[in-house]
Amino acid sequence: MNASLSERLACDIRQRGSIGLDEYMRAALLDESEGYYAVGSPLGRDFTTAPEVSQMFGELAGLWCVDVWTRLGEPSPVSLVELGPGRGSLMSDALRAAASASPAFGNGLKVHLVEASASLRRMQERTLGDAGVPVHWHESVESLPETPMLLVANEFFDALPVRQFAYTAQGWRERRVGLANDGTFTICLEGAAEQESRLCALVDDPAEGEVVEIRPEAERITRFISGRLSKHSGAALLVDYGSGMRPSGDSLSALGRDGFVEALSHPGIADLSAWVDFGSLARVAGDVDVFGPIPQGSFLRRLGIVERAEHLRMHADEAQAREISTALSRLIEPEGMGVLFKVMAMVSRDLQTVPSGFLDAERFNGDA
Ligand code: SAH
Repeated sequence: MNASLSERLACDIRQRGSIGLDEYMRAALLDESEGYYAVGSPLGRDFTTAPEVSQMFGELAGLWCVDVWTRLGEPSPVSLVELGPGRGSLMSDALRAAASASPAFGNGLKVHLVEASASLRRMQERTLGDAGVPVHWHESVESLPETPMLLVANEFFDALPVRQFAYTAQGWRERRVGLANDGTFTICLEGAAEQESRLCALVDDPAEGEVVEIRPEAERITRFISGRLSKHSGAALLVDYGSGMRPSGDSLSALGRDGFVEALSHPGIADLSAWVDFGSLARVAGDVDVFGPIPQGSFLRRLGIVERAEHLRMHADEAQAREISTALSRLIEPEGMGVLFKVMAMVSRDLQTVPSGFLDAERFNGDA
């Protein structure tokens, strides 16, 4: 019988020494045979994302893309890209709303999905089978076509691997995954020389015990996307949960079928995610204009979600109308996803106007 993911990781650690939290997180989420996203569909079972809460979320994202595309002079061909599309619901709702807002949008349109999980790809294929536009899948952003693009990513960056560092009496140390005497995974501290200058720049006057998270892969992807936007024009809409502009302390959490569990206890069984530090992403974005991050509730209200809900309620029966109201509150109220979730946009400079949902004063200027 093949060794389990836990056994393989433990064997790796015995042979090579501790592994970074990023390496552990990547394996726990994407390992081909046991990774959390590689096996089955956790969406709707362990947690519910905004596009699964209501069709309104994907519809408004689609209309946002059409609006940017119109203001850019309707470039064709154009790519509609989604990173980590999950069940494909956002894209399906976005395409339907976009088609009714602007039939011309579909003419030169191709959909490109960046998805690492084979089982979620199959689900996306089923959801988008009758979407009426060509759909292509990619392992990573690097193979996306060189065209103008409109990109959306909801709860994608929170799943990208993090590294953590702690400030100790001996200076900065990396928090890595090692093995305890009883064979379970445990955090151990090791040298962090190669990140020293970056950590000192991030935290002025660290207190002993302070923890900082960084996300190298998210920064690499952001650099790549902003490079593509500035070269070929377009926009990216990033939605995720996080504190806003600053790196957080230890925000790694593991969510399984029955709620939160110890982050290192069940590789592959629980979803591992961590707060997104939008400030770090905005700072590595190249030659583009960045807006936000702003609270999801403000963004969706400005795009007209309250009116959209009202319209849907008019055509619904009583039970459905109640569901629509509940979904609306969940998406925009502070007790739901309205404040913890943030929205940030990167737009190519040729857009020359503020993208809808944002104000000029929300232009990112590097202050954190
Ligand atoms: N956007 C969806 C799903 C969010 S879950 C929604 O809002 O419902 C995270 C998604 O990102 C899953 O589809 C997962 O398989 C994918 N994913 C996670 N890490 C990835 C990576 N490194 N490369 C590509 N896709 C990844």
